[in-house]
Amino acid sequence: MDNIEKRLMCPICLDYCKQAVECSKCINLYCKNCADSLSDKKCALCRESTEFHISNFARRAINEIPVNCDFCSAKSTIGDLEAHLEKCEKKSITCQICDLKLTKISFLNHVSSNHLDKALHKTELFNDILANKFVQSTQFLNSTLNGTHSIDTKINSKNKKKARLGATGKYYCGAQLDDFCSCCDGFCGTKSGCNCSGCMELDIRFRLLPKGWLVNRDGFAAKKSSETGKTYCGRKNMMGVPLCDGYCGPNNGPNCPACQKLDEQVKRRYSKLI
Ligand SMILES: [Zn+2]
Ligand SMILES: [Zn+2]
Ligand SMILES: [Zn+2]
Ligand SMILES: [Zn+2]
Ligand SMILES: [Zn+2]
Ligand SMILES: [Zn+2]
Ligand SMILES: [Zn+2]
Repeated sequence: MDNIEKRLMCPICLDYCKQAVECSKCINLYCKNCADSLSDKKCALCRESTEFHISNFARRAINEIPVNCDFCSAKSTIGDLEAHLEKCEKKSITCQICDLKLTKISFLNHVSSNHLDKALHKTELFNDILANKFVQSTQFLNSTLNGTHSIDTKINSKNKKKARLGATGKYYCGAQLDDFCSCCDGFCGTKSGCNCSGCMELDIRFRLLPKGWLVNRDGFAAKKSSETGKTYCGRKNMMGVPLCDGYCGPNNGPNCPACQKLDEQVKRRYSKLI
């Protein structure tokens, strides 16, 4: 570590200064919180009674210090690490059913092999984490980029067109759909609705869905039940439907309109994906 980097460390907590402030007498840097904790506002280094001022220079310099992600060892910087951790695929998340810590990648397999029934009924666990949170984070990213340039553009490997995340959190390329669809205008997206098979492949890949899963036109992950042969997303969106407990599946009973469409489409459009 060179001298400049050493100077960016806080003499109290011995880590890089968080929200760096400097002593107005000796210009040594502290974390804001560490400086606030000094008794009588006396600098620990020059021993003078002093004021602490924000150091924008130090804050910027610290943000640019390279660090590796603890989980995936990707190269990042102190300033960017938080944003990386939001999307880091190796970062551990806790299973809300059994409290096991898992990576994002292994989480879905864990849930589908250990507590699929529970998970599907706990829509907040399954669909929230894997669909809604995903939608929110991408919407957030898109909005910070002013919607002008989406970093969530992927290439549809079937038609080589650019696909973007729509309002449903599904990928859409705007090309003609593979086949006729009773609910759409015949095109993939571009903001909501059904997508083409190449874009569905992106949905499956980037949500890390295990084999057999698709994403319905509302943006919710859904799977065919071996009991009824119907596709269910597990959402509680069927209140008031006769002979139904209010949930779409997850194993039997009527399915929601979006999953009914999947039942039609899986026979042709998405047949190669499950
Ligand atoms: Zn400190
Ligand atoms: Zn000082
Ligand atoms: Zn990472
Ligand atoms: Zn679990
Ligand atoms: Zn498409
Ligand atoms: Zn459609
Ligand atoms: Zn459904």
